[in-house]
Amino acid sequence: MSEIFSAMSVARTILNIMGLKAPETFAPAIPIDKTAFFADKVCLLTVDSLGSSLIKHHKEKLPFVSSKNDCSYTLKAEMPCKTAVNLLSQASGLGFDYHGVITKDQKFNAETVFDIMRKCSLNTQIVCCENSTMHILFKDKTYKQSLTDITTDEAVAELLFEVIKEKHIDFIWCHLLDFDKESHRNGPLGREAASKIAQVDFLVKKTAALCKENGYTLFLNADHGHHIVHTPFARGIHDGSSDDDLFIPFMHFTC
Ligand SMILES: [Zn+2]
Ligand SMILES: [Zn+2]
Repeated sequence: MSEIFSAMSVARTILNIMGLKAPETFAPAIPIDKTAFFADKVCLLTVDSLGSSLIKHHKEKLPFVSSKNDCSYTLKAEMPCKTAVNLLSQASGLGFDYHGVITKDQKFNAETVFDIMRKCSLNTQIVCCENSTMHILFKDKTYKQSLTDITTDEAVAELLFEVIKEKHIDFIWCHLLDFDKESHRNGPLGREAASKIAQVDFLVKKTAALCKENGYTLFLNADHGHHIVHTPFARGIHDGSSDDDLFIPFMHFTC
């Protein structure tokens, strides 16, 4: 297996691509392949629950994501294996032991990539559903908030496309939630989850084309993976008890 990096590495990696210096406390960057082309504006697309093993399993539903990435790394999600923990670890370059955030409504002091970019007069925007963990954690930190009344990945993607075409946001972080919701409901390997995955592939393909046209480097990752359970309440879970929850992708696209 190739080298595995920490999810915390995302923060410094993104700052590096944008030519910004990360604080010493941030985890080391992913030693990304510098031969690929990198624009200095960055779009990070986080697909909730899309762990590395699920990308493999649903490969046929992900023709673009599986074959068109320029480089792909494996990261290990932070424990506890929850969305808030992992979004903040990726944004702050610090682990759960330091930032201590486990639920989306918790206040935190950790410095994030948004704070560092703001100090450098760069514009940042999150693009996500209003009730999402990303919105609740970061809405006060960004130059521009995502719009209200957005509840599906399709609507999130429409907004993402508009923001990319406007060209004036330096760092866009988009969070897609439908695959996670469907994975809890009917299991991450089920037919319903597969159809959400196919939709993700279509959105990534369109996003990659728009990023290229408008001067963005596109990265795709996840917050954690997901695995099957059989309880009266759920068919899928991410509690860190399986490697399927822990290993997540970090991919770069230029096409
Ligand atoms: Zn999540
Ligand atoms: Zn979930």
